[in-house]
Amino acid sequence: MTAVLSLKEVGIRYDPDPAAALAVRNVTLEVHPGETLGLVGESGSGKSSLAAAIAGLLPRQAATEGRVTFDGVDMAAMDASAQRRLRGAKIATIAQDPFTSLNPVVRIGRQLVEFQHWRRDLSAAARWARAAEMLARVGLSDAELRMRQYPHQLSGGIRQRVAIAAALLVNPRLLIADEPTTALDATTEDQIIDLIRAARAEMDGAVVFITHDMGVVRRLCDKVAILYAGELVEAGPVDAVFAAPRHPYTRALLACDPAGIAEPSRNLPTIPGTVPAPSDLPPGCIFAPRCDRALAICHRTRPQRTEVGPGRAAACHLTGAAA
Ligand code: SF4
Ligand code: MG
Repeated sequence: MTAVLSLKEVGIRYDPDPAAALAVRNVTLEVHPGETLGLVGESGSGKSSLAAAIAGLLPRQAATEGRVTFDGVDMAAMDASAQRRLRGAKIATIAQDPFTSLNPVVRIGRQLVEFQHWRRDLSAAARWARAAEMLARVGLSDAELRMRQYPHQLSGGIRQRVAIAAALLVNPRLLIADEPTTALDATTEDQIIDLIRAARAEMDGAVVFITHDMGVVRRLCDKVAILYAGELVEAGPVDAVFAAPRHPYTRALLACDPAGIAEPSRNLPTIPGTVPAPSDLPPGCIFAPRCDRALAICHRTRPQRTEVGPGRAAACHLTGAAA
């Protein structure tokens, strides 16, 4: 089956100078139709940069390397306007703050009608009706009232529902959700996660869900890709990775979310230290300064990412071919 999205050795640099440090390095992953991929990392891990690269939202001066294919089509083979058209028609994003995807001075209804500008076959009235129907589908029973309101008149949870409705109006092949529940309370977060799960079931496509919360990954995702300091340190099916994580960083993240593992760890609830900057990476394993299992080799030699099980990969000397 052709992947909806495939990344092969993708790198991202924010400085056009080829000598500048890559913020994201050598990321390879695939998402197939019907799958939800959790892209996990702390702040500074590069997860939002990757999402921006996929959605075509990197700043103009940024440079990418490697290959991104969408439904088997190499994005680099398309000119900029063809890329924009493809992304506009097939990729929808939901941001952490729905204010960034909604215009504050335009009523909800008019925005949802304008989101459908590409549906030239539909009259304005039909677009309005479709928008109202979509609001009902995301759980807003008073759709006609909501459509007459401005974004600031809505609570955070309702704004996020409106943003999801707007994304689904595109009928996307790929839905990218960048920490869409981080700003919400726990009950609203549960509702939004259920909604994204339901949306995925109806979509003929895939979801990339960006988060730092392993609990959300466990509840929502089929596959997980864990980024650390711009590199993929572990990836694989959620069940397998959560049952037996192969990278110490994944283990530490799961220890921060005790409900995520069968036996809650006695480790401290946070990982000491911080993610290194791309320009200041340690010489060996990028996680070595924070790793509680680091060996002498870890401080000298960077581990390669290797296969560690069906559909699984990890970059660690303890689990690699040398282990
Ligand atoms: Fe820890 Fe060494 Fe594995 Fe890096 S390679 S994660 S330092 S054990
Ligand atoms: Mg982010």
